[in-house]
Amino acid sequence: MEESTQNQAADGTPTSYGYCSWHDRFSEGVRLIRLGSGDMHYACVHCVRIYKLTPYEDQ
Ligand SMILES: [Zn+2]
Repeated sequence: MEESTQNQAADGTPTSYGYCSWHDRFSEGVRLIRLGSGDMHYACVHCVRIYKLTPYEDQ
C-alpha cells in the first residue's frame, strides 16, 4: 500500500495531518513553513513554537 505524504491544503481546516520536518515524525496540526531558500516544509505546532517558525499562511 502506497502511503502519500502530500497534504491537501484546504482553507478553513483547523488541523491537518502531515510529516513534521523538524522532529522527523508524522503529527497532527502541521503548518506549512516556507524556508528562506524557498523550500516548503511542514512543521507541527510544537516545533513552530519551539523553533519560532512563521507559518506560510501567517506571513
Ligand atoms: Zn515537530
